Amino acid sequence: MKKIALYPGTFDPITLGHVDIAQRATQLFDEVIVAIAANPSKQPLFDLDNRIALAESALAGLPRVRVCGFSNLLIQFAQTQHACCIVRGLRAVTDFDYEFQLAGMNRQLAPDLETVFLTPSSDYAYLSSSLVKEIAAHGGDISAFVPNNVARALAVL
Ligand code: ADP
Repeated sequence: MKKIALYPGTFDPITLGHVDIAQRATQLFDEVIVAIAANPSKQPLFDLDNRIALAESALAGLPRVRVCGFSNLLIQFAQTQHACCIVRGLRAVTDFDYEFQLAGMNRQLAPDLETVFLTPSSDYAYLSSSLVKEIAAHGGDISAFVPNNVARALAVL
């Protein structure tokens, strides 16, 4: 049986931290699905189709990674994709409370679905999509933090 992992998030937009986690996940799983949540309540800067297109292009070099959008419950989407695991990234202690709560709730709802936490390269440990958007909005250089296609998309906003 192929081991499929789901790496869910808002990816608004995808950063090099996300790419780093997806790449690490491919070392543990046969296939990694980057699952982009519609998440309208978060009022994303990029709509779902754009977030998918940016992620597809940024992840094109990783052949066992594919990108999907979803708008239903995460555990339901994981089941339809036959995923055995959820992958989440942990940057600092500040991520821990929320991630621990999310993993616990998902375990209550789907006991067989494991959550695996991966840490990024220290280059990306402080990086978030929100900070990237803020820096870009003020004309700062974000080229060290995002794939080139994302930097171009943020530059024309
Ligand atoms: P969400 O809205 O679900 O938090 P994000 O797109 O912000 O969606 O993040 C998706 C996942 O990627 C989360 O587990 C988050 O902790 C992780 N992540 C985000 N940025 C980084 C980074 N720079 N390094 C490692 N993991 C990250």
